[in-house]
Amino acid sequence: MEKLHQQLLDFIAASPTAFHGAASAVRLLKEAGFSELKESEPWSLAPGGRYYVTRNLSSVIAFRLPEKGYRAFQITAAHLDSPCYKLKANGMAACGGKYQMLDTEMYGGAISASWMDRPLSVAGRLMVRDGNAVKPLLFDAGKDMLVIPNLCIHFNRGVNDGKPLRVQSDMRPLYSLSGGDIKEEVAAIAGAEPGDILSADLYVYNRMPGAVWGPEGEFISAPRLDDLECAFSVLRAVMDAEAFTNVPAACLFDNEEVGSGTRQGADSDFLESVLARISRAAGRTEEEHAAALAGSFMLSADNAHAVHPNHPETADQQNGVWLNEGIVLKFSGNQRYTSDAVSAGVFRAVCGAAGVPVQAFYNHSDVQGGSTLGHLSGRHVSVTSADIGLAQLAMHSAWETAGSRDLVSMVKGMTAFYEADLRLEGDCSWRIG
Ligand code: ZN
Repeated sequence: MEKLHQQLLDFIAASPTAFHGAASAVRLLKEAGFSELKESEPWSLAPGGRYYVTRNLSSVIAFRLPEKGYRAFQITAAHLDSPCYKLKANGMAACGGKYQMLDTEMYGGAISASWMDRPLSVAGRLMVRDGNAVKPLLFDAGKDMLVIPNLCIHFNRGVNDGKPLRVQSDMRPLYSLSGGDIKEEVAAIAGAEPGDILSADLYVYNRMPGAVWGPEGEFISAPRLDDLECAFSVLRAVMDAEAFTNVPAACLFDNEEVGSGTRQGADSDFLESVLARISRAAGRTEEEHAAALAGSFMLSADNAHAVHPNHPETADQQNGVWLNEGIVLKFSGNQRYTSDAVSAGVFRAVCGAAGVPVQAFYNHSDVQGGSTLGHLSGRHVSVTSADIGLAQLAMHSAWETAGSRDLVSMVKGMTAFYEADLRLEGDCSWRIG
């Protein structure tokens, strides 16, 4: 397996939730010499510096400053959260007290059937009392702990004819036969007193390790490829970019799968606030900051739907995208994707110069497509923007599949974007140095 694929699979395995995704990102950033800024403290920034800031411990923005001033910001974004099941505080006994089941609700739009009969575990964050303080503690049980058992076909003859799965009744994970209480086990694993765990954001996750497969290793499959594949690419690029003239910034947001409308989501002031603080720390006036924003460029990266091998009719036959045919540029007539001729033209020029293949995605015109980070982020920081991603199958399944060569294209394309000297020369007119 190529080193890059192994790095991605390690990143995914270490990132069962957005909290862990952010912690994995911070670990990589620190190793690459980035230092932490706190939103709650004043910033002083040095030319050539590498910095990151977190919000809610589940979103991260990392950026670097050129040695000699800058004209604008070149921004990439991806998301760290994935559809799954979130634990409610209290589980329940079922079947005369024999089985201990957990009560969950769906986070985002998961494909429920894909979560049945798999090794599942629990991760998230705990809020723990420490004297007079209440502190967050990252938690990952890190072992096979739960299963959501299918009802056998003998009692469910219509199972292959499309039977609805209700979260409240069909998706409860089985925890124990011994009457054990998961709160006590979580506390024991965390090394905390059960009474000191005041609250928690805990999620069920799929423990299956990812794999590269196919006769020529052409596929990569794993949980949470959407969107950890792009999140990993964004991170690699901001760490690896060498020559850049503008400020490369990488945003890893939480809560894309539930609409991004939280304090740490793309539809918050997080990016806007970070960019404004970079300008202030650099001694820029408000006027100069506005000019920098006008000349800035953003790539919002979230995976895209490849043509499905068993259901090609769901794709637009002329404008579908394929595994291993390069970075996907996403378009939609209603502009739920931000790409337009201007941003797509600039992005194609950057990728063309770097030898990175690009393919265009349009929805089947009778199908309502998804939406993603770009247009929400754009409400707060209205910069020229393109929506991109990597083609994949089974989006929002517990086990997703993409093309292994596309990861290489995305890292190369993102890095080339940061290293391209993008200069706005007139409204919609760009020079690429
Ligand atoms: Zn996504």
